[in-house]
Amino acid sequence: MKLIDVSVPIDDRLPIYPGNAPFDLEPVKRLARGDSSNVSTLRISAHGGTHVDAPRHFFDHGGGVEALPLDLLCGPARVVEVTTRAAITADDLAQLYVAGTTRLLIKTPNSRLWGDSTFHADYVGVGESAAKYLVDHGIKLLGVDYLSVEPFKTPGAPTHHILLGAGTIVIEGLNLRDVEPGDYEMYCLPLCLVGSDGAPARVVLRRG
Ligand SMILES: [Zn+2]
Repeated sequence: MKLIDVSVPIDDRLPIYPGNAPFDLEPVKRLARGDSSNVSTLRISAHGGTHVDAPRHFFDHGGGVEALPLDLLCGPARVVEVTTRAAITADDLAQLYVAGTTRLLIKTPNSRLWGDSTFHADYVGVGESAAKYLVDHGIKLLGVDYLSVEPFKTPGAPTHHILLGAGTIVIEGLNLRDVEPGDYEMYCLPLCLVGSDGAPARVVLRRG
């Protein structure tokens, strides 16, 4: 059973979405200082690295991460690839085979940005028309390969509102660099952070 890890390593070189907290692993106890064990305190944005967005991210009365159904976070997933460097449109998606799948992961040139600790504001996002197209075509989970599904600083955040408002789960921050387009089995397990608008997740694929 060969698993492909499509989550990004969490360390201090992880690029951070502007305004979000940087990652920190703070030493609380250290053997080297005479303590009985090593214990750290973890500090990370709920939207740091590979993570899921819960409806509460954009809706105060939306569910938190604990309400996301695990049987939607795990199961058959299709990886498609776009080479556009502008926001993904409905027309881009119409040329791909996205219908008939519940879980869609979109590989873009973004996946090549991982490893660079600089945040790249010109990442490829999913435009409003594409978000509507996905909801209309029955996509219940969308995964993207940079820190936001929304093109950077889009006023009103229509893509998040359309997707999360329709109950579509959004996974952000995947690294799909070494993944060929095709059908896979996906396992996405976010931390059960009760009431949180997002949560870091480990995500792996297995060839279907
Ligand atoms: Zn997010």
